[in-house]
Amino acid sequence: MDDYAIVINAGSSSLKFCIFQRPEGGGWRQDSRGQVDGIGTAPRLRVTDGESHALADSQLDAHAVRDATSALDAVATWLRSHYGRSRVLAVGHRVVHGGARFTGPARVTPAVIDELRALIPLAPLHQPYNVAAIEAVAVALPDVPQVACFDTSFHRGRPEVAELVPLPKNIRDAGVQRYGFHGLSYEYIASVLPQVMPEVAHGRVIVAHLGSGASMCAMKDRRCVDSTLGFTALDGLCMGTRPGALDPGVVLHLFQGLGLDAGAVETMLYKKSGLLGISGVSNDMRVLLDSADPAAQLAVDYFVYRAAKEIGALASVLGGIDALVFTAGIGENSPEIRRRICESSAWLGLEIDLEANRRSGPRLSRPGSRVSAWVVPTNEELIIARHTAAMLGLAEARA
Ligand code: ADP
Repeated sequence: MDDYAIVINAGSSSLKFCIFQRPEGGGWRQDSRGQVDGIGTAPRLRVTDGESHALADSQLDAHAVRDATSALDAVATWLRSHYGRSRVLAVGHRVVHGGARFTGPARVTPAVIDELRALIPLAPLHQPYNVAAIEAVAVALPDVPQVACFDTSFHRGRPEVAELVPLPKNIRDAGVQRYGFHGLSYEYIASVLPQVMPEVAHGRVIVAHLGSGASMCAMKDRRCVDSTLGFTALDGLCMGTRPGALDPGVVLHLFQGLGLDAGAVETMLYKKSGLLGISGVSNDMRVLLDSADPAAQLAVDYFVYRAAKEIGALASVLGGIDALVFTAGIGENSPEIRRRICESSAWLGLEIDLEANRRSGPRLSRPGSRVSAWVVPTNEELIIARHTAAMLGLAEARA
């Protein structure tokens, strides 16, 4: 009987999962990955094997699959049909916010769940679904240990000035500080830098995680020095539906000048701004790039402008830059956005190789370029599997 571990990344309308299997006598390896998307509207289960061949692709009953618990039931049904009588040894979760306390992965207990729930107001787009998935697994598989892995942990231990929110001490003492997010993605990238770019891996590297959520991380010797996200995942770069850096006076004006209530402001900041807010068309970069609408083009222009500006700021924090790495949905798949960001960063000594960029690298810069540029596909699930295996004393997980 083979053993397996499940990695879960639960969002508002999708539940992504990865299965790591350990054949009898062997080590852990990724066996399949899948997701239930359209939860609450038109749920669909899709699963592929290690070679990206489809193992399942089916529409699910919208009445039956309406939340994390029922989505997990659908996944469990498929797992039983596909993996038969194998044993689930562990479940690892992506959890967006670990607050000040969780500086590394944590074995899930009822007390840990309470602490994660208390952080929901700081990450309303993700944390409720992360917690719901943990609770659903606790009900469905009460004897299986769970491990929570945090997007904030990789950023812990930065210089004090990089974590500071310059408000009065009593506010800071209540936990208001810059945390940083996308840490599981950055941790994966940091782990592969020595293989992908040994000549600069231990130098000054800016990693641009450009997906629906977007941020950048400045690394020195593969450790985080600073990042563009802060107390919440609203700061820094322009994102799909979030504005990125915003004068706090604007938020005051929304309350005092325009009379919006807290719920309306939260919805505006998390769900209606960024690419969607500027364009009025879509939060999807592909749609914007294909659109002739001037507002869509303005959204793309602002995305690139903001990215170039943050690269300049992080390069200054690092005292120069050796390499720029693109990852996540937009970073891995959009030659146009990469080209435009690289061209805006030419003043740093980055010379893009247009042909290599079209082929998606992995190296995007010309051989003589003082700053090199790269595409590295991220793998947050592998990092979660590794942490889960390590915490439970299981053997190392491999892609
Ligand atoms: P998340 O995991 O945060 O939901 P992803 O990392 O999957 O986000 O990134 C989603 C983003 O990637 C979307 O804006 C999507 O439009 C963009 N994207 C995916 N493929 C492409 C592509 N070929 N060109 C441009 N953007 C793309």
